[in-house]
Amino acid sequence: MTIREMFAGGPLLSDGAWGTQLQARGLAIGECADGWNLSNPEAVRAVAGSYAEAGSRVLLTNTFRASPLALAGFGLAERTAAINTEGVRLSREAAVRTGAFVFASVGPSGKTMATGEVTEEELRRSFSVQCEALASAQPDALLLETFGDLEEARIALSAAKATGLPTIVSFAFFAGGMRDRTTSGVTPEQAAIAMEEAGADAVGANCGNGIESFADICRRMRAATTLPLWMKANAGIPEMANGTVRYLTTPDDFASHLAALLAAGADFVGGCCGTSPDFIRALAKRWPETTLAERKKQESGACESPSCL
Ligand SMILES: [Zn+2]
Repeated sequence: MTIREMFAGGPLLSDGAWGTQLQARGLAIGECADGWNLSNPEAVRAVAGSYAEAGSRVLLTNTFRASPLALAGFGLAERTAAINTEGVRLSREAAVRTGAFVFASVGPSGKTMATGEVTEEELRRSFSVQCEALASAQPDALLLETFGDLEEARIALSAAKATGLPTIVSFAFFAGGMRDRTTSGVTPEQAAIAMEEAGADAVGANCGNGIESFADICRRMRAATTLPLWMKANAGIPEMANGTVRYLTTPDDFASHLAALLAAGADFVGGCCGTSPDFIRALAKRWPETTLAERKKQESGACESPSCL
């Protein structure tokens, strides 16, 4: 199914943060979250299930740092294939109960080409290994998220597209005086245009900013591309208090921005860092009635268009 077919009945509610949810279930700071797909699958399944129950129509996978380059930092590079396939399987188990889609998450390598820390070929190889492992477990799409560097995003997108799966590329905008650029200085317009040219099936923004900044980013992407738009804001800009990171936006505050985000052209809305199933429930409560009704009609197979009657 193409990305456009997925939201033909209206915009889709996606899920919220995974890292903080796994930490609530015992994941230690600095521990490899992705490794839990093998060592603590019950906890990973529980996070996916909590989002499915909250109303998420798209569930991500616990594979954000599961490229061989990223896993090498934890001595887990040799487990790349198993960590990725298990990640898809665990989210799918939760998704089948509600008919949600599974989008497999791929994060940046954490290494920079500009400094010579990693070569283009090493990046290409690392993303290919992860994307092929994910694809073998048959997610509905691949989601390249929290990217900052256009060149790395192009390399990851080419590896993702080689699997034949629909692919979304999402960037984190939080640099510059207006907090509207990625760490490499890329604007929402530049990201949208570059990814459309490179063959992405959808583009978007996640992380970095609170939801109050996302309508503007979404509007700017909408003006630059006709591709579907993926939007996942943080629960506010993080604040440090007593050595821990805190996100201060409440679920209701967060959901109060939903209408503006949909009006700006968002096709998928969810939450990133600091959000939880409560945020997804708050969004679900405010989800426009008409799109829910249209979606139900579509799911039941009924068609009332004049040509079908
Ligand atoms: Zn985030």
